[in-house]
Formats: sequence, structure tokens, C-alpha cells
Amino acid sequence: MILVTGGAGFLGSHLCERLIKEGEKVICLDNLFTGSKANISHLLSDKNFSFVQHDIIEVFSADVKKIYNFACPASPVHYQFDAIKTLKTSVFGIENMLNLAEKCGARILQASTSEVYGDPAVHPQREDYWGNVNPIGIRSCYDEGKRAAETLMFDYHRQRNTDIRVIRIFNTYGPRMAENDGRVVSNFIVQALKNENITVYGDGSQTRSFCYVDDLIDGAIKMMNNKKGFIGPVNLGNTAETPIIEFAKIIIELTGSKSKIVTKPLPQDDPTQRRPDISLAEKMLDWRPSVELRSGLEKTIEYFDRKLKGEIK
Ligand code: NAD
Ligand code: UDP
Repeated sequence: MILVTGGAGFLGSHLCERLIKEGEKVICLDNLFTGSKANISHLLSDKNFSFVQHDIIEVFSADVKKIYNFACPASPVHYQFDAIKTLKTSVFGIENMLNLAEKCGARILQASTSEVYGDPAVHPQREDYWGNVNPIGIRSCYDEGKRAAETLMFDYHRQRNTDIRVIRIFNTYGPRMAENDGRVVSNFIVQALKNENITVYGDGSQTRSFCYVDDLIDGAIKMMNNKKGFIGPVNLGNTAETPIIEFAKIIIELTGSKSKIVTKPLPQDDPTQRRPDISLAEKMLDWRPSVELRSGLEKTIEYFDRKLKGEIK
């Protein structure tokens, strides 16, 4: 039995779907803060799949062999909505999951993030870079929460021999991102499809590296199942780096939109550059992304197009 927390969210729902396809039994746990039952509706009738509405801040019991801890709002708009709760989700949530792993003798994988590098002074980011994080800013509830969760993972491993794995996920996109979650991929695609202004924050020179969801899920599963005893942390992301202003132009081109680009103020502590060094994942997991940006975006645009037309929930 495999437990996926945050399983009704964007990444979690793809992970549940993949695990069910591979014949696993899956418990999906989610408080439905940013996730939705629509994301997993196609799995609900499967006898190997069960959904439990639960908040990981509270203790959870089940007999499981693997735990993927993906529960946490991931977009700045949502994680800043209730910053105190976000920090609790990362810290109390992982403590509950680590205690469950210990009780069951389960392996636990934490979905950490490139945000642990903050606004990085080293580029591209390697796992041995300790980061440049503001501890008291508006992004800190997320960044520091995820950093503390990594600390707790490694302390359980050292002190109690807990079987851990840590992945650091860089910006990932694809179908089932929430339409309203404020992230750049969903914002730009929805704005373009509606022919509304495309909102570039700052001058758009800040960069991100976008990974398609299928590639990311491959990497997460490889990390969980690697037999080398490799615990991480390991970067998972695409190395193709794009300035946000260029990204806006690509979306306009791919959608054939009439939208105009407008600028809005850059949010506080917005990282100026981000690109993973994935040589560790290549070496230890034989993993590298295979979906090129434009082809991943085409699938994502098709999803949002159908969603806006009401063809999918
Ligand atoms: P998402 O918001 O779609 O999914 C998060 C899920 O967790 C949602 O279903 C939400 O309802 C659930 N959740 C939130 N708080 C919870 C709580 N206290 N108890 C139970 N469930 C809770 O976001 P996502 O993009 O799918 O991200 C999933 C995980 O991957 C997160 O931990 C995020 O930090 C991490 N991550 C994602 C990205 C990315 O680019 N998508 C990048 C880095 C890290
Ligand atoms: N961004 C933007 N317009 C938007 C949403 C985001 O220009 O409508 C920018 C944002 O300032 C950041 C980048 O796009 O520089 C990625 O933002 P996102 O919220 O997707 O992810 P994160 O900042 O957490 O990487």
C-alpha cells in the first residue's frame, strides 16, 4: 500500500494515476485546499484506489509501505493566503508522516523544492549549494517550511534510521494545474486563451526552467525506488532556462492569441534566476527530462482550452 499526501493536487493526481497504472494500491490523502476531487474522479471507482479527506497537520494512521509527501500549497498566491498554515503543513505535516513511516517501517519521499535555494547566488543550482533565503519575507513560510522539513527528514534518518528520499522539484507544469492558482504557466495560458492582457511581473528578465509533469513523475518514482540507497536531496527539473518575458511571447505564439503584454510590480523576494544542475539525477537515477517546452505547453494549452469550454471539470 502506498500513501500519497496531496494526491488530489496537480502533481499528486498524476502520481496517483501512474501508481494505479503500475498496479499499486494507493491511498490518496488531501484536505482539498488547492486540490480537487475532479482531479482524481477517474480513479475513484478503481478498487486499488481510495481517497481520504484529511489534513496532514493531524496524525494519520494506516499500514503503508511507501509514503510520497506532496501535501502543501505550491503557488505563491496560495501558500501566502494563510502563511502560518503553510509553515505548519510543511513542518507538523512531515513530522506526522515521518512518525507514520517509522511505525510502519515505510520508506518516505519528501517533495521539496528549488525554493530551498531562495534567490540563488550560484547558477545553475547544485544540491550542495545551501541557498540564499530570506527567513522573514513573504515567501519564507514556504521556503523555510520546506527547508525545515528537509532537516527533519535527515534528522529522523540519522537518529532513528528512517528510510528517506528527498527530491527538490523545479517549476513543473502540465494539465490539472489549478486555473486560479496564480502560477505563471496557468496565468499566461488562461489570459492568452481569453485574449486578456498577459501580466509580466517586473521587466520579465527573471528566469525559470520548466519541466513537464510526466518527466517529473518519472523522476519521483525512480528516486523512491532506487536500489542504490541514494537518499538525496536530488534536483528534478528541466535545464532549459527561459526569461519570463520570452515565456509570455511563446504562449502568445502557441495560442495564436490577441493578448498584449503588460507589466505589473515584481513581488518581494522573487528569485531572479533558476535552473537546475541535474548531473546528480543523471548519474544516480539515470533520469533526465525528455519533453521539450513547446510540446509540453501544447498539451497544457489543450487542457486549459477544454477546461475553459467546460468540456472537463
Ligand atoms: P497543488 O497545490 O496542486 O497540490 C498540493 C496538494 O496538497 C493539494 O491537493 C492540496 O489540497 C493539498 N494540501 C495542502 N495542504 C494540505 C494539508 N495541510 N493536508 C493535506 N493536504 C494538503 O501543488 P503541486 O504543484 O501539485 O505541488 C505538490 C507538491 O510538490 C507540493 O509539496 C509542492 O511544494 C511541491 N513542488 C511543486 C512544484 C511545482 O512546480 N509544481 C515545484 C516545487 C515543489
Ligand atoms: N509571474 C509573472 N506573471 C504572472 C505570474 C508569475 O510574471 O502572472 C512571474 C513571477 O514573478 C516569477 C515567475 O513568473 O518570476 C514564476 O512564478 P510562479 O509563481 O509560477 O513560480 P515561482 O516564482 O514560485 O517560481
